[in-house]
Amino acid sequence: MTPLLALRDASRIYRLPRRSLFGARPALVAVDRVSLTLDRGEVLGIVGESGSGKSTLARLVMGFEAPDAGSVAFEGRDLDALAPAALRALRPRFQMVFQDPYDSLDPRRTVGWSVAEPLLADAGLDHRARRARAADMFDRVRLSASDMDRYPHEFSGGQRQRIAIARALATGPALLVADEPVAALDVSVQAQILNLLTELQADLGLAMVFIGHDLAVVASIADRIAVMSGGRIVELGTTRQILTAPNHPYTMALFAHAR
Ligand code: ADP
Ligand code: MG
Repeated sequence: MTPLLALRDASRIYRLPRRSLFGARPALVAVDRVSLTLDRGEVLGIVGESGSGKSTLARLVMGFEAPDAGSVAFEGRDLDALAPAALRALRPRFQMVFQDPYDSLDPRRTVGWSVAEPLLADAGLDHRARRARAADMFDRVRLSASDMDRYPHEFSGGQRQRIAIARALATGPALLVADEPVAALDVSVQAQILNLLTELQADLGLAMVFIGHDLAVVASIADRIAVMSGGRIVELGTTRQILTAPNHPYTMALFAHAR
């Protein structure tokens, strides 16, 4: 069967500004020939230190940026080959949450509006149906539908992340890409958000790419883990394999770091 997500030798190369007037523009290989697949309902963790290419990989998976070489396919369709309208039509099927909830919540809009907004893509839903669906999402992330008319700044950081998750899941996606979703939160709040994501993932049969810099956090939610360093996946295995028998020196260094 076609995997939900398939990357084949995907690379992303950034051209940096010239250092001198006549010099060539240096290139930075942020993602270097990454290949991986993800099945429906599966959670893939991506772990690596800052600058290893995790967020760039997330943008490739989401189709926010196109690979400079290789391919990214969602449900068997090469994102790069899709016209913008076709990519937009696919958007309800794969969504993202960011480290900073304000990357997806508009501070000038009520949180109810922000959660209902992705549903505008569904012409079959009227205002009342969108509102009902948004209310259901508030319930799922353990907030109250009576919170919908408030603004993002009225909530705590953990609550704002719950609202960003509600927005991402409102369209019923098959894939959620979560880029360090708990990294900015206090440890106790981190655990609550991780529990919520674990519960929603199981309830909704959601596939997830969960990105983090902390191996313990990623291992708590992932079925498999890819370890990134310098834009490359240096090791990929089941969470159990990575935790009990890491092969790559870089993975071992991540452990040393965690202790
Ligand atoms: P991570 O999320 O693991 O911290 P990133 O994907 O953000 O890593 O960055 C990987 C590398 O690519 C870093 O060296 C970063 O400076 C560089 N980079 C990321 N985005 C850009 C960009 N838009 N332009 C130039 N360089 C970038
Ligand atoms: Mg990042």
